[in-house]
Amino acid sequence: MAHECLVCGFPGLNEPPRASNGGGSFEICPSCGFQFGVSDDDAGFTFAQWRADWVNRGAPWSSQGRSKPRGWDGLAQLAGRRKSASRKGSKSGGQAGRN
Ligand SMILES: [Zn+2]
Repeated sequence: MAHECLVCGFPGLNEPPRASNGGGSFEICPSCGFQFGVSDDDAGFTFAQWRADWVNRGAPWSSQGRSKPRGWDGLAQLAGRRKSASRKGSKSGGQAGRN
């Protein structure tokens, strides 16, 4: 089952970014390059900070090992994520980005 990146909305993560106990998956998102449990816990980035930086760089595909899906567009992906997140109404606590 695929999981969605909490930073960029990439829908193809192999593991949930955060376990129910709060631990990171240590999976690196191939889209934005965020590593759950490392970029946040160790490096101190919030999702919002990482996302803003990624967007500033033009929302590039980050993975070298995994090839970019055909027609992939980081900004479109992010826009779709925002829409669905607000429809669902977020109930996730914890690391929500603060600006
Ligand atoms: Zn991502």
